[in-house]
Parts: sequence; structure tokens; C-alpha cells
Amino acid sequence: MKKVVLLRYGEIHLKGKNRGLFEKQLIDNIMESLLKVDENVKLKKIGGRYLLYDFNEDNLDSIVHSSTKIFGLVSVSVATEVESSPEAIEKSLKNLLENEELNLFSAKTFKVEVSRADKSFPIHSTDFERQLGGIVLDFFPNLKVNLSLPEKTIFVDIRENKKAYIFMDKIQGAGGIPVGTSGNGLVMLSGGIDSPVAAYLMAKRGMKLSAVHFHSFPYTSEQAKEKVVQLAKIVSKYTGSLKLYVVSFTKIQEEIHKNCKSAYMITIMRRIMMRICEKLSEKFGFQAIITGENLGQVASQTVESMTSTEGVLKNLPVFRPLIGFDKIEIIKLSRAIETYETSILPYEDCCTVFLPKNPIIKPKIDLVEREESFLNIEELVEDALNKIEIIEI
Ligand code: ATP
Ligand code: MG
Repeated sequence: MKKVVLLRYGEIHLKGKNRGLFEKQLIDNIMESLLKVDENVKLKKIGGRYLLYDFNEDNLDSIVHSSTKIFGLVSVSVATEVESSPEAIEKSLKNLLENEELNLFSAKTFKVEVSRADKSFPIHSTDFERQLGGIVLDFFPNLKVNLSLPEKTIFVDIRENKKAYIFMDKIQGAGGIPVGTSGNGLVMLSGGIDSPVAAYLMAKRGMKLSAVHFHSFPYTSEQAKEKVVQLAKIVSKYTGSLKLYVVSFTKIQEEIHKNCKSAYMITIMRRIMMRICEKLSEKFGFQAIITGENLGQVASQTVESMTSTEGVLKNLPVFRPLIGFDKIEIIKLSRAIETYETSILPYEDCCTVFLPKNPIIKPKIDLVEREESFLNIEELVEDALNKIEIIEI
């Protein structure tokens, strides 16, 4: 009896003539992710789903765990592969029940569902279901068969390749569509709770991501940067490998602090961050900027503030996938994607350096531009871009 993993895909069924491209991208993403877990793992397509085989069974749990983070997959099952003869299937079923690998202890009702892609298989599906159901009842005499709403279903999938697959649980996959099928984006990654969740949501819709982080060393610590690297690593389990652009913001902040009214500090900082993102996008081909902003969450996240921030962009959209979420929903997602514990570690963000007491929360564009006229923004942006550090995650 050999263990294999079945991967089922979802929405890519719907993509008509692009289906080939979607599938190719999905297979590339699966292999990129799983070869890191097991260098021998192989994939083949079988009956509208993928089969993983030839991996070391010690890696089974890690393979399943990583598979549930790949966008485009809707469910994952660990299956036992056997020769597709009635005798072999019956024997394996007995073995699996005996070893408690098919665990029905907690259930009151069950059914066996046989699907027979191989029409040369000598027994009809319903007859074979009854036969196998009888074997299960020998082991669990108190169980009842319930065909319409069983608590547990044992699936037996008989394929044309003369193999049959026995499995019980379907583990929920990440859903979404394969990363790499919806363009390229640049996510602004702070050390907070929101931006990693924003990255996750865009990747879920197929966007390939790079990340940018602004730090203000020595006002912010080396650990604050390390924390962002750590967050990017967790996010990369969903997005695949990514580049993190680390930009020093110290000089820019000092210049704003020295030359502009303090109430405009945050607005001007945000606008300069955007200009740097735009330059990075021109250079590396990003088609959108992504932030973790959320309407009304903090004073600086007003519609006026967002309008003023994105007003500096000439031809690039800003995606804010969390715009309408409640904080509690964001935290729930952040726990689910395993970034929360890292995000809440204490840290300083460059936005909290030189924080004014009374920031303008509804900035007027002419007044902002007046304050900005005291700076040589082009030079500051160029300077920051020249000193960028690129970290491969
Ligand atoms: P987060 O939880 O993502 O830090 P936040 O609630 O703290 O968000 P703000 O500090 O107003 O909100 O930041 C809004 C967005 O601006 C962030 O979600 C992030 O996308 C971007 N941002 C803020 N600070 C930085 C930074 N130092 N580097 C890169 N992006 C940043
Ligand atoms: Mg923050």
C-alpha cells in the first residue's frame, strides 16, 4: 500500500481558453513549493486532478500542509494507492480499518462511494459499495449506513490506469487562483498586522508579488527590519518566492521634519513612499501598488488622506483589499495565515518616528503641495532608490 496525495483544483475549470496557461502556472507553483519539502516528489494529472507520488512518506504531513497554502487548489486528500482489482481493494480496506488509518470511531453514520472511471472493472459501483460497506460494518457493528447525509464517506476511486485510490477526508485548500495569472504587484509591507493580510488576499486572486519596506535606521532598529523579513517569509508560503526591496527613509524623514509643518509629516511621508513605489514599478514592471489600508481604522486612513496619497501617481492603481474589513476580521485572517504572532511583536515603524501631535487627517491638496515645495523631492527619491537593498525571500 502506497501513500499518495490528491490535489483538486477549482476555479480554473472556468477559465475557458486560458485554461492551459492557468494549469501550467498552477503546476509550476505546486512544484516550486513542494520540491522544497521533498526533492523526489512527482506530479501527474489523473481524472481532472493531480496526484503527488514518489515522495518520502516521512514528509507526508509537510506536503499536505504546504499544499493547503497553494492558491488554485480547493481540497487535498491523503489516499492509499492499490491495484484496481476487487480483491486488492477489499484487502487494503481491511488493512486500513485494522491499522485505524480510516478512523470511524467518532462517527455514527457512513457510506462508501465508489467511482469507476475504468468501466472494465468487473463489479458495478453500487454492488461494490454494498460489498465494501459490509466490510466496514464487520469492523464497526454499531455504525449505520446513511447514503444521503453520512458523517464519514470512504471514497474508492477506480481509475483507468489500473490503480484505485482509497481515501476519506478532504482537507480544505486555499482556494483562489494560481499566483502568476493576474499580473505583478508591489505590496507595501510594514511590520503591522494589515499589510501581510493584504498581500495574502492579492496573491489569492493570482497576483505575483514583490514587497517594499521603508525603515528609518537608526530611529528604527535592526530587529524591526528582521521582523519584516520574517513576515515576508511567512507570506512567501502563499505567494511563492518574492523580492523584498528595503528602502532607507531616514534622510527623507529628517528633511520633512526640518522643512515642513509637522502636521503634514505623515501625509508627505506617504506621498513620497508612493513616488518611490512608482519608480520601482517603472523599473521592475509592477502594475499595481498594494497597501493594508482600511477606511477609518486610524486617523490617517480617511478618504481625503488616501486621495492625497495616491494623487502623486500618474498611471498606477492602488489596491487596498482590506478597505472594508473590520479589524477583528483582519486579525482572524492574520491568525489563519500564521502572520499574527509575528505582526504583534513589539516594533517601531518608521511612521511613528517624528509623529506629530495633531496630524492633518483631511489634507487639502494645495496646502500639501505648498509644504512639499520646501523639499527637493526628486533628489530625495533618487537618493533613496540608489541605496536600496534587495532581499530574496
Ligand atoms: P499595518 O498593520 O499594515 O502596518 P497600519 O494599520 O499600521 O497597517 P498605517 O501605518 O496607516 O496602517 O499604514 C498603512 C499602510 O501603509 C500599511 O498597511 C502598509 O501597506 C503601508 N506602510 C506603512 N508603513 C510602511 C512601511 N514602513 N513600509 C512599507 N509600507 C508601509
Ligand atoms: Mg503599521
